[in-house]
Amino acid sequence: MARIVMKFGGTSVADLERIRNVAGRIKAEVDRGNQVAVVISAMAGVTNQLADYADQSAELYDLREYDVVVSSGEQVTAGILAIVLQDLGVSARSWLGWQIPIRTNDAHGNARIEDIDVTEILRRFDDGQVAVVTGFQGIDAQGRVTTLGRGGSDISAVALAAALDAERCDIHTDVDGVYTSDPRIVAKAHKLDRVTYEEMLEMASQGAKVLQTRSVEIAMKHRVRVRVLSSFENSSGTLIVDEDEIVEQAIVSGITYSRDEAKITLTRVPDRPGAAAGIFGPLAEAAINVDMIVQNVSVDSDETGITFTVTKADLERAVKVLEGLRDSLEYGDLLSDPNVVKVSVIGVGMRSHVGVAQKMFSTLAEKGINIQVISTSEIKVSVLVAEEYTELAVRSLHSAYGLDAA
Ligand code: ADP
Ligand code: ASP
Ligand code: MG
Repeated sequence: MARIVMKFGGTSVADLERIRNVAGRIKAEVDRGNQVAVVISAMAGVTNQLADYADQSAELYDLREYDVVVSSGEQVTAGILAIVLQDLGVSARSWLGWQIPIRTNDAHGNARIEDIDVTEILRRFDDGQVAVVTGFQGIDAQGRVTTLGRGGSDISAVALAAALDAERCDIHTDVDGVYTSDPRIVAKAHKLDRVTYEEMLEMASQGAKVLQTRSVEIAMKHRVRVRVLSSFENSSGTLIVDEDEIVEQAIVSGITYSRDEAKITLTRVPDRPGAAAGIFGPLAEAAINVDMIVQNVSVDSDETGITFTVTKADLERAVKVLEGLRDSLEYGDLLSDPNVVKVSVIGVGMRSHVGVAQKMFSTLAEKGINIQVISTSEIKVSVLVAEEYTELAVRSLHSAYGLDAA
């Protein structure tokens, strides 16, 4: 007998037919004698629709009320799944975040889980009951409903698995595992049987939407055994593991892209101590995250250029902040460009192999793709290029690193 968490994403519960399919999978685990907690998303498209309603109701709104609205999709699927399970003769009940409770901080719209009280779920496991838990939501210290950020049901699932000390956390989705690149744009991508926590974390944070970034962080910290697999087919999926559990480690494991970037350039910035702090300090105060940064070297002048990226959603605010600083920063022009994409090459093998970045640059050069910004970490190289080259860049790199399926 094992204790497991099974998570089902939006496409897996998109209609009643699919919810019945999901219920059948859960019943199979129960029939094997396992204790099962299920974490469920809203039906595909529902959270977007709910967020649109909030957006259209007022220009500026109370994020506590936004959370009340967008968390409601999961309530529907949890209730329906519990009904369908009961109809199959499986003992089950639904749990909203506050009923467990899943306690979070009060960062509405992007809250962090602080604690999950699993006492009652564990007690009911002993009676053979399945817990059907709404993903994406929790409750703060003021008793208000919170949500965990888009894609947040993955976080709920992994955090619940950690709290339950579950043997594994199965993330069921519309692909049969983690691929070397997004299979929607790279037809030759192949499924990885195993991927390290570190690579998965980097892939998620660089744009591979298959797992939400923070869910991977929690899995890594608590050593939760996460598996990504299909809701629709029977296959073994991808297991996220420690590095020493991989026998033959490829140098590069994946190519990702993120269209969520926008570029800002400040020209003729006075080249003096405090210039960068004067730009990035106010952006940080405005809670604007800056990702890639380059500063040009000023050889024969006392001015420099600084280029950096923010998320597309923050671009307008960032521009406003910087325009307000024009007099104090004494920069020349402020240029912004939302039509960029960040493409990244990821692999733990980069630690021990040279030439990985060079291959990236030469491959893009051969395709005539200009690199605008570069950033690196120990296991990743990222470049910013024009958005129109997304597919060409990702596919060419995928081939260049020998990742194409045979
Ligand atoms: P869910 O609704 O089940 O949470 P998501 O849409 O959030 O599903 O995540 C699954 C999608 O992630 C896939 O359909 C796929 O297009 C995308 N994806 C992006 N990068 C990858 C990758 N490297 N491997 C697998 N899927 C990926
Ligand atoms: N329904 C939420 C969303 O679409 C959470 C999730 O599906 O992971 O963002
Ligand atoms: Mg998802």
